[in-house]
Amino acid sequence: MSDLNTVVGPYWGGRQVRHAGRYPLSVERHVVSQVAHLVPGVTAVTPNARYFTLHAVIADEVKRRGLVAAEAQQLMRRAEVVMAAITVAHGPHPGMSAAHGADRIRPSLNTDVIDVAALSEPGSYAKSKWGFWGPYRGSETLLRLTHWESTNIAAGADLPLRALREALEPVIHLARRDRVEVSTLLDNARCCICGCADAADGALLRDRLVSPNADPMSNAGRRTATIRMMLRIFELHEIASATRDMWPVVAYDKEILDDPICGPLEATVAWRGVVLRSRSVRAWRDLWAELVNTIGGLTTVAGLADTFAASLPDQTVATYMDGLPDTGSRNALLPAEEDDSVWGRPVLDRSLALLFIGGARVGALSDRVAAYFEDPSEAQQELTPSWVAARAVEWQRRSVRDFAHWLTGVLVARSQRIALRKASFHKTTGTFRVPERVFVRDGLLFRDSYESGGEVGFRWNPLASVLVGAGLSHFTTDDNNHGKAVFRPTSRAMELLT
Ligand SMILES: [Zn+2]
Repeated sequence: MSDLNTVVGPYWGGRQVRHAGRYPLSVERHVVSQVAHLVPGVTAVTPNARYFTLHAVIADEVKRRGLVAAEAQQLMRRAEVVMAAITVAHGPHPGMSAAHGADRIRPSLNTDVIDVAALSEPGSYAKSKWGFWGPYRGSETLLRLTHWESTNIAAGADLPLRALREALEPVIHLARRDRVEVSTLLDNARCCICGCADAADGALLRDRLVSPNADPMSNAGRRTATIRMMLRIFELHEIASATRDMWPVVAYDKEILDDPICGPLEATVAWRGVVLRSRSVRAWRDLWAELVNTIGGLTTVAGLADTFAASLPDQTVATYMDGLPDTGSRNALLPAEEDDSVWGRPVLDRSLALLFIGGARVGALSDRVAAYFEDPSEAQQELTPSWVAARAVEWQRRSVRDFAHWLTGVLVARSQRIALRKASFHKTTGTFRVPERVFVRDGLLFRDSYESGGEVGFRWNPLASVLVGAGLSHFTTDDNNHGKAVFRPTSRAMELLT
């Protein structure tokens, strides 16, 4: 009999390399795809309104001057450095995301002159040759602002280029200089990211982001509905952080479904389903991360399951579930997912509690919300809320610790299946690449790196920042919010809310 610890290979299939995968249990797809569906055109990496329009102006300049791709890349980086430097010099902008590369550019503002040439070298303020166009490109293409044309950037069709250039021409002009005085940056403060709202480029961006007459099922229609919902919630509630403070409103608030603006929007029920589902997704991710991170050296699956079981009370599944907060009725949801009695528990216990709460939502949501909580095509698929609900019934008279044992085996097996499904051969070396942190060999587990868990993003924070930049919202203190700064719709935005 061989010693397991000395067995390496077989190598007849070529070398195998493991690397950390992003979605080890593959439980995120529904939420990720619904979020993309509900906010097309703004992503987690596009938080700054004025970069959308700056890139369009750069694309126009590239065409006018007949620049080849390498020259266009240099102009892109230099212009982004200039706009970021103007923004940093202009001061802090609460409610808006910082200019890209601001941390790298800020120290150079302590001198009288900034070295645009050096800061714009690839690897300085940005890693990519195209600066920050890469993260924005897909969104800008969707919004018809810029696109790829062969190997170069091109401006979208039907842009009001003369007005756009008037708004941002100083940036293009200063980008041609290797060094720019800080006083010159301040003289051009209207080109700061905060200047977009009241300039021609802000008007263009608003027009591209919000299309009140668009087909509600189109990209523009869904994006418009999400923006209207967000602005209306900004009007009615004190929202200082979009993701943190909108979550309970979208998930539970009874009034928004009857609200004259939010009520008729499909986006409102869609987001309710998605955010409630996201708690189950987070629970799976946190549960898996916590389990994985306890693996030290070689561990058996049973040993890992013992860790999970030991974190739970010695009761039946039914008793455990009786101790969870009430989820309410379909027309009056209660904030069970936010309850302190759940969040006060250690991670493994809390995650299981959130999963059972997700299971309890199955059949207890209105039909419209339910369709976005769990897609009918997912029903009873492993790790969906309906699957959890069915397992809870099967296990109700048995020990919740035994359930944890069984569930650990399910998760380990699933992680290996998912890793193999995503595995691929490297194009040139033929190396077999497997995206997994946890490796199972003959019933023994070991871990290559830590798993992080956490929430899947809704794109609400970047969208809130874009809305401020585009002049549809501002981050302000007013008489209604006790001196605390919150997002409010601008008077311009109120036209969208009538
Ligand atoms: Zn500013």
